[in-house]
Amino acid sequence: MFSVSGIYKILTNPIYCGILRYAEYEESEGSWEPLITKDKWYKLQEVVKEKSKPRLRKHRHQYNLLIKCSECGRSYTGYTTTKKSGLEFTYYMCSEKHGECKNMQIRETEVEDQIAKYVENIKLDDEKWAKLKELVLQKLEKEFNFESTVRKGVDVQIDQLNEKLDSLFDMKIAKEIDPDDYQIKYSKLKDELNDLKSKRTDVEVSKEELKDGVDKFFDDIQNFKDVFLNGDYHEKRNLLFEITSHLGIMNKQLDLNLKEPYKSVVFVKNSKNSKNWGSIVNLFRTRIIETELKPLITSIQLLFDKMSSSQELYFER
Ligand SMILES: [Zn+2]
Repeated sequence: MFSVSGIYKILTNPIYCGILRYAEYEESEGSWEPLITKDKWYKLQEVVKEKSKPRLRKHRHQYNLLIKCSECGRSYTGYTTTKKSGLEFTYYMCSEKHGECKNMQIRETEVEDQIAKYVENIKLDDEKWAKLKELVLQKLEKEFNFESTVRKGVDVQIDQLNEKLDSLFDMKIAKEIDPDDYQIKYSKLKDELNDLKSKRTDVEVSKEELKDGVDKFFDDIQNFKDVFLNGDYHEKRNLLFEITSHLGIMNKQLDLNLKEPYKSVVFVKNSKNSKNWGSIVNLFRTRIIETELKPLITSIQLLFDKMSSSQELYFER
């Protein structure tokens, strides 16, 4: 059997029409009887070129491989059919190929309608929305102020250690200290200094940057529905990746799990008292750090984690 690339090599080799090719653009007339005429060979090249072009897919299915079959665990794939009327219909079906999975196919419009309802649900009335945003911003401001205070404290200690190192060095120059003692004291101070430097974060996030980050995150959520209804292929897929942790289907019913903090919006919606929103505020705070503030922060999260126990005490009031 010939491989596809082997056949391609034969079909594109000019030796069959009497031309010897040395390199890509160097050819000479051969002295053998050609198998086909040059004219026919060049026509053949056009056909080969045309056939080997990657075929443009007519349809790019929005939800391809995003939905998992709850019956067998495989992904749903999209296909489009054209009815006699000329109208096109897109469906998604389980990719199980042997007809063993009995889970039903679903029209794309039905998928859209069902997802739209979930997206719609990630929405609060203006009052609750403003309150939640305020609590999240307050929490972040407290944390960043605390971080800034810690950093200033660390800086003072670093300055003090550097001064001690300077005077130790002066003593060494003035021969006021035994060389062995000097070495011991020097190593001790140097270790302390390195330890402090490793704890220090050098990224300051301004109040404005914090507010912008929080604003943007909350505004984006308000725009989810618009993105879902009017976004392009990639925007819609990104939105689904951002908000869903699971998207299954059974009997034409989507089974969609929202990721946090979006899942918790439903809880806020149903709760009257903002006093028990604490853990939700935390979830929002974490997601905002991951998405909006990440470029501004590198080691800050690390510092928060290191100090988490003292930090909790600090913020409990
Ligand atoms: Zn299946």
